[in-house]
Amino acid sequence: ERFNGMAAQIQGYTGGLRRLVEERTEELESVNQRLRSANTELERLAQTDPLTGLYNRRYFLEQLDVEIKRAGRNPHSFCLLILDVDHFKNYNDQNGHPAGDALLQHLAAVLESNLRTTDILCRYGGEEFAVLLLDTELEEGNNTANKIREVISIQPFDHAEKQPQGCLSVSIGIAAHPFDGENSEELIDHADQALYQSKARGRNCVTSWTEMSVA
Ligand code: GH3
Ligand code: MG
Ligand code: MG
Repeated sequence: ERFNGMAAQIQGYTGGLRRLVEERTEELESVNQRLRSANTELERLAQTDPLTGLYNRRYFLEQLDVEIKRAGRNPHSFCLLILDVDHFKNYNDQNGHPAGDALLQHLAAVLESNLRTTDILCRYGGEEFAVLLLDTELEEGNNTANKIREVISIQPFDHAEKQPQGCLSVSIGIAAHPFDGENSEELIDHADQALYQSKARGRNCVTSWTEMSVA
């Protein structure tokens, strides 16, 4: 009888312990789930520009390196575009900084809706955006850049008519991998020089590094 009593007591303890372990495991799983969600959110924040919701420069540069490595293994072309809003200081001066912020948000949405989902678009800096056109040769990249430029120049952005050229416009520089640069520094530098050439040509236009270096 005593033995049976002890056995029943041990069984009771074991059952209690099992329930405790189950409860703790459930708690741990729920904490882990919350940790995973927090990490995903943290990762999203680390790669997002808060004003426009686009990717930020950090993420973009990472993707540029990924793309260069991918092209090294499996040769194909892609284009890097750098866009800069023309006379944006004037826009802020005329309409106030909050209107300038709203314009950047509107512009980001217009850019996004005029690119393919596979293209990578980021806010590169203040009023500069950068795009990676994947699996794209220079000629097609030029066409896309010109389409974007034109769409923006005819878009009814708030206060666009007060800009010096009567519309809101962007200047664009293009460098195509691998012909215009083999590494990210070269590609960025050449797209940037092409962008400044677009500014020098009067803004609201597209210049490629290839075109510049031939001229
Ligand atoms: P350009 O045609 O030569 O590019 O002339 P610009 O006026 O666009 O160029 P500039 O570099 O003189 O001025 C850029 C302006 O962009 C100045 C800066 O205050 C503004 N800017 C940069 N980031 C932001 C932002 O997040 N919000 C707003 N509202 N303005 C910004
Ligand atoms: Mg600028
Ligand atoms: Mg500008």
